[in-house]
Amino acid sequence: MTQSETALRDHIVLIGKSLYDRGYGVGSSGNLSVRVDDGILITPTNTSLGRLDAGRIAKVAPDGSHVSGDKPSKEGFLHLAVYARRPEMRAVVHLHSTYSVALSTLAAADPENMLPPITAYFVMRVGTLPLVPYYPPGDRGLADAVGAAMAGAHAVLLANHGSVVAGKSLDEAHYAAEELEETAKLWFLLRGETTRFLDIGQVAELRARFQS
Ligand SMILES: [Zn+2]
Repeated sequence: MTQSETALRDHIVLIGKSLYDRGYGVGSSGNLSVRVDDGILITPTNTSLGRLDAGRIAKVAPDGSHVSGDKPSKEGFLHLAVYARRPEMRAVVHLHSTYSVALSTLAAADPENMLPPITAYFVMRVGTLPLVPYYPPGDRGLADAVGAAMAGAHAVLLANHGSVVAGKSLDEAHYAAEELEETAKLWFLLRGETTRFLDIGQVAELRARFQS
């Protein structure tokens, strides 16, 4: 195991516990992965994000075969679909966090972009948020749909399920996943209120300044 892989494993444990302790990953829900030279490291199946063991985190080859560690999350194929589609992405965070799941069930929302530009940080860290249609857990059609949606976005909602967020580092991915969850919460707090969102010019300026 390389020094950098050891550090990545420790970072997954740290971020997993942080997400769990703050209620972003209840029970054994949610999974985190990072890209390494020979595949991905991903949190094991049926394991709480609050009690990860660095040495038991699974390694999975790009073709989906299990290389080492505990049995990988059964949602690992979602992560692999993102890495295959977006070579520059180094980490994926998938959560069943409460407000993101609630948002993913709204029948009247725009499936091309599920949230308006409520704050600058949502625009900067999350941007466009498409909805991937519902598939049963473990359905390989979900991986294809996520890969397709991720071609033009780095965050998506899975209908009646949760969020998938990719980043160029684990920190970038989990910051964006948290920004998404908090913005979804704001959206529910503001429902029924006459709300002033950022306008088209303000969003364009943020994209020009902050999106690479
Ligand atoms: Zn899930």
